[in-house]
Amino acid sequence: MYRKSISAILAIGLVLSSGSAYAQQVKSAPNGHSAIAFDNKVLNKINVDNMYNTIAYLSEQPREAGTEGEVRAVKYIESQFKSLGLETTIQPFPIYDTRVNHVIVQINGNNVAESPKPFSGSVSKKVTAPLVYIGTGLPEEIGDLTGKIALIERGGITFIEKVQNALEKGAVGVLMYNNSSAGNSFGQVQDGQNIPAVAITRATGLQLVEQLKTTEVEATLDVDIEKIEKTSYNVIASLKPNKNKDTGQIVTVGSHHDSVPGGPGANDDASGVSAVLELARVLSKTPIDTEIRFMTFGSEERGMVGSSYYAASLSKDEVSRIQAHFQMDMIGGRDAGEDNPAGGLIMYTIDGKKNLVTDLGAAAGARIRSETIPYGQLGRSDHQPFHELGIPAALFIHSPVEPWYHKPTDTLDKISKEKLQQVAEIVGASVYQIARPDTPALVNATVAQELVDYPFENRPVD
Ligand SMILES: [Zn+2]
Repeated sequence: MYRKSISAILAIGLVLSSGSAYAQQVKSAPNGHSAIAFDNKVLNKINVDNMYNTIAYLSEQPREAGTEGEVRAVKYIESQFKSLGLETTIQPFPIYDTRVNHVIVQINGNNVAESPKPFSGSVSKKVTAPLVYIGTGLPEEIGDLTGKIALIERGGITFIEKVQNALEKGAVGVLMYNNSSAGNSFGQVQDGQNIPAVAITRATGLQLVEQLKTTEVEATLDVDIEKIEKTSYNVIASLKPNKNKDTGQIVTVGSHHDSVPGGPGANDDASGVSAVLELARVLSKTPIDTEIRFMTFGSEERGMVGSSYYAASLSKDEVSRIQAHFQMDMIGGRDAGEDNPAGGLIMYTIDGKKNLVTDLGAAAGARIRSETIPYGQLGRSDHQPFHELGIPAALFIHSPVEPWYHKPTDTLDKISKEKLQQVAEIVGASVYQIARPDTPALVNATVAQELVDYPFENRPVD
């Protein structure tokens, strides 16, 4: 699960989905409180030791995107899919790292007493010019800056807006100081903002503001950075339905194989990969009428780069045929979930509304495990790009996450087989609900389980 981009989470009350397309399609059903025959076609075949062994192998080393560790994982996943006879594709895509050769800020010829940081995307360039303080960089604060370097305080408006405002008044460089004591790693520019942009601490910035009150200051910004292109990968495997009973529909089941740098990522997200592989194995031995695409994405931890790339590569026809996306990220954390029921399992959607995926997940939880699985609102994983294509999508995760989240201690010994089993069962039964041959295109599903009530929970994930 991705850490950044936490937007404000709105509190939304209980949203009933009784009017959803799925609810209208599903007829009444037997009311069993334990797994019923069609579920057992899938559930009886799930072998949690397979999942555990996958996690053991994948978590032997970090799998940061663009490294050998990712390639090792990709090859393993590919070989597993291929051994099941699935049509398997490795989809490469570029990712970019920055190598900082040097960043120097001089005031009247002397280096500042810290190691300044470049803005993300800053050009490499050396400029020497008079320094001018322009407050927080609002247009009304700025006079003519032709040939000057702008000293700006962070905050209020975006980095890109501040740089743009300075650029439009003729600035040749931007030096920005923090609006808190939290160091000097911040800032970004966008394409076309071709002036060096450098971040410094609040302490240095306030000193310069003071200095500028009494004297003129000449500053030098010397930025030397390189953009390094690397390759990351998605692994996509297609399980095709029986040719004579093909609804033309597609269900996608995803996880991410990359880890954070230096983290073994046993739970994040070797656990999700293990479920994707196990469900591929189980469902490949079961008759279906719907294509199921199993996928593991790269570069999720860099901001869902792989899943966004995959989503952008889908044709309009494919998008229209994908009925649902199930994302599993961090589904085996022994210490996740705190005291919440069902081990803390929750289904997060991007908009905080129920959809086909959460309806099926909640019904499966009630039907096969007598568990109430709530839903909530969260992005930060690969269900996001599917949602943006209009595809019903949800993230299955135990929330709140464990203390080892994104740490080198996210290791195999903290994995709970019971939690792996739980999520594999619920997602497996949900996917099978769509793909089993006696639910043609979800319409006329004479044996489908009744929808259940399940609550919205405004539960923070970390
Ligand atoms: Zn993560």
